[in-house]
Amino acid sequence: MHMHDLQPSAPVTPGKEPFDAIVVGSGAAGGMAAFQLAQAGIKVLLLEAGRMLDPQKEYKTMEWPYKDLRRHRLPVGEFALQAAEYRTLDRPYGLTPEMQKYKKVMAYSGNHFTKDWIVNEKEHPITGTPYAWVRARVLGGKTNLWGRVSLRFSDLDLKAKSHDGFGEDWPISYADISPYYDTVDTLLGITGTKEGIPHLPDGLFQRPLKLNCGEVQVQRAIAKMGRKLIAGRAGVTTDGVLNNKYRARCMGRGRCGRGCDLNAAFHSPAALIFPARDTGNLVVRTDSVVSEVLVDDRTNKATGVRVIDKNTKEVMDFRGRIVILAASCLESTRLLLNSKSATRANGTANSSGVVGHYFCEHVMGPGASGILPSRVGTAPTNDDGRPQSTYIVRFRNVTDKHPDFIRGYGFQGASGAAEFPANAAETPGFGAAFKKTVRANYPARVNYGGFGEVLARKENRVFLDPEVKDAWGIPVLKFDYTFSDNEKKMAADMADTAEEMLRAAGATDIVVRRNILTEGWSIHEMGTARMGTDPKTSVTNSFGQTHDIRNLFVVDGSIFVSASCQNPTWMIMALCWRAMDYVKEQMRTGNL
Ligand SMILES: Cc1cc2nc3c(=O)[nH]c(=O)nc-3n(C[C@H](O)[C@H](O)[C@H](O)COP(=O)(O)OP(=O)(O)OC[C@H]3O[C@@H](n4cnc5c(N)ncnc54)[C@H](O)[C@@H]3O)c2cc1C
Ligand code: SF4
Repeated sequence: MHMHDLQPSAPVTPGKEPFDAIVVGSGAAGGMAAFQLAQAGIKVLLLEAGRMLDPQKEYKTMEWPYKDLRRHRLPVGEFALQAAEYRTLDRPYGLTPEMQKYKKVMAYSGNHFTKDWIVNEKEHPITGTPYAWVRARVLGGKTNLWGRVSLRFSDLDLKAKSHDGFGEDWPISYADISPYYDTVDTLLGITGTKEGIPHLPDGLFQRPLKLNCGEVQVQRAIAKMGRKLIAGRAGVTTDGVLNNKYRARCMGRGRCGRGCDLNAAFHSPAALIFPARDTGNLVVRTDSVVSEVLVDDRTNKATGVRVIDKNTKEVMDFRGRIVILAASCLESTRLLLNSKSATRANGTANSSGVVGHYFCEHVMGPGASGILPSRVGTAPTNDDGRPQSTYIVRFRNVTDKHPDFIRGYGFQGASGAAEFPANAAETPGFGAAFKKTVRANYPARVNYGGFGEVLARKENRVFLDPEVKDAWGIPVLKFDYTFSDNEKKMAADMADTAEEMLRAAGATDIVVRRNILTEGWSIHEMGTARMGTDPKTSVTNSFGQTHDIRNLFVVDGSIFVSASCQNPTWMIMALCWRAMDYVKEQMRTGNL
């Protein structure tokens, strides 16, 4: 399976090709949109701001540390911002005097393996309140390096307002989306165990991952508290998928975050875009920075998009019957806001004034680590040789009501030995005694960290900065976004319950983390062009079709109504598949 026939970008020029649909962005959302439409015989132009990527050459999945001169550290002149720096440095980060000595300044997840995919803050500044905005500009976007945790939303999430009175219910229920979760599971492959938990619905799982001894110990201890620890649910094919020649099944190597060169982990290029190209109905044009949606104000229809070539900066317009924005939550929002005319002074599809508002995500940071005495001194095993670890399911505000906060959180974490002994950093001392302790405790470490729902509040928003532009002359986003008391109280509870669970499991040397990480750390942006039934308070209908412009769709996390505490990518793809079925039907019947 080789991808040598990939071209840097398709030789497509404006006006040369008639396209039925233009898709902007090639991550989870854009990949799924392009795949669905191309499979149905619809002619698609996919525009991606980043460059072409050949997973076979770029994923350094099995590279040993000694293969690299710097042992996987960033080269001189490149710098990845850390937690505190998002708060201590003035915006825009890449342009502050402290950062001028670096040629590239990128978000915290920029490392040796991902640095060529993560954007340079000097070219892509942002302003306003602190926010760790991780952006990958390359074919496949963030799916090249994502964490693969794939959890379904339930009616506890989709009807959260009915449950606790806050915010809005989604215009769909679990029954509407569950068939699409099923098809996404089947097409892409997902590992997990059937648990029958109503608020974390089961999927069509492939071979599950095994828990190690320490994890079983925690699982048993917290079961007595009525809490569930389950095997990780990951967007990875452990049994293989049919009809995709680019993907193999998981071999349990645990290096997935670098990009899985077997493509067992879901990455949009091999899982969706290459098969879509093989239909002959998809043209991919990379290095194409879309700057705005073109709208004919007389007919109130989108006519196409304006593109600035990333390298030459040439400006060109591409025409299509429908336009689908899938540039990621905040980039699609930015595009809507930047698409203006005399009649659309505050942006396109924004007659409600809601675009940019109700920004939500997950709050992270609090958690705990410790040592399980029963595992101390045992032989280390290959505990991280798997594509996902374990998950502790939400237990707050499910059947009871917490006095301090609404909504809930889950924990991701693991026990056992990993490639690098994480316990070393927490072990005091030096010399032979230090090494002895690190070795003895190596298989015994246990660590869990929470992911909590951030409420979708209208005052949390992004908007265009009138002063600052990116390297292509496009106004950048300004953030006006902070955690509320609800998130802070929830985070305090996360730290308490993490400690409580590790104590119940018999852990010692417990280190409790109470600090909340900078906003954005979860990399789960949602809500800034939310769906709904009322055009006065929402931007799209439940198919991502904008209320204002019939042939303009948004299909990424921006259309979420609330964040839940589950990771969003599987939901993005299920919603997108549902939206594309609607598009196909509307096209077939001549409504689009
Ligand atoms: C380290 C990491 C770990 C993660 N872990 C998980 C996890 O465990 N579970 C989970 O559910 N999610 C996880 N995520 C989040 C997940 O990656 C995203 O939810 C998912 O990729 C969103 O898909 P998307 O298509 O909306 O955006 P993206 O994947 O970001 O793709 C958007 C694409 O649009 C392109 N684009 C942007 N602007 C323009 C423009 N103006 N013109 C043309 N193209 C444009 C970008 O270059 C990019 O390729 C993680 C992310 C990271 C980085
Ligand atoms: S563990 Fe599986 S998904 Fe992860 S890198 Fe290895 S083969 Fe790929």
